[in-house]
Amino acid sequence: MNTYAKTAVVTGANSGIGLALTQKLLAEGYQVIATARSGQIDSLQNTNLTVIPLDITDAASIEQTVAHIGQLAQRIDLLINNAGIAPDVMSMAAPDRMLFRDTFATNVDGTIFFTEPMLALLNDGAQVVFISSTMGLPSHAGPNGTAYRLSKAAVNMYAAMLAQRVADRHIRVTPMHPGWVQTRMGGSAAPFTPEQAANGIFRGIRANLESGRFWNAENDAVIA
Ligand code: NDP
Repeated sequence: MNTYAKTAVVTGANSGIGLALTQKLLAEGYQVIATARSGQIDSLQNTNLTVIPLDITDAASIEQTVAHIGQLAQRIDLLINNAGIAPDVMSMAAPDRMLFRDTFATNVDGTIFFTEPMLALLNDGAQVVFISSTMGLPSHAGPNGTAYRLSKAAVNMYAAMLAQRVADRHIRVTPMHPGWVQTRMGGSAAPFTPEQAANGIFRGIRANLESGRFWNAENDAVIA
């Protein structure tokens, strides 16, 4: 009997959508390697869960974490790049240089330079998900959050480029919009719970999407 359980890696798993995704994947029978800056998720204990530290803005942390993941798992089936910040998302003001620096260091450089060394640990046929945002699509342009929008636009482009680069390994790459979600980032007025967002993202993971397509978890639609 094949008892192989799929293994997933989730970044920023201690909070919000990352935490809900981790819970969803555990409920679906995955082995989950969850990363958190603190190296801890106090609210979650599960024999199929390993929590390890990762700060995606820190090159040494990335190097240690990737090595650690390589020791923990022989093959990774699913990488979910979820960690992100949005310090100017409510701001209509002119772009702010410091917020650009911080937002790009996390959402763009951090996401990309964690993903790159992880590629060697992925199974052929694995899936890479980016928790991105429709705010990074030109069709959804708006006046607020310049650094955040541009950072997610960069992630969307990287996802499209990566999809081409790893096609020969049958690795599917999927940028996803989780909806507007009640989290530290999304605030309490958001219409969706993290659990609803995690369910929508998981439906996208299961949807066998063409690599490079953008999934909107809010209404189960491919939108770009
Ligand atoms: P939260 O603020 O609740 O969670 C963000 C997570 O990212 C936390 O775990 C946080 O860790 C982690 N993180 C931030 N910076 C770093 C870093 N340098 N290294 C490692 N981890 C880091 O927000 P959400 O759950 O809402 O956000 C998750 C993702 O969903 C983000 O990429 C966001 O852009 C995206 N998204 C969210 C939407 C929403 O409405 N909420 C809408 C569209 C997209 P720590 O706790 O240590 O700060």
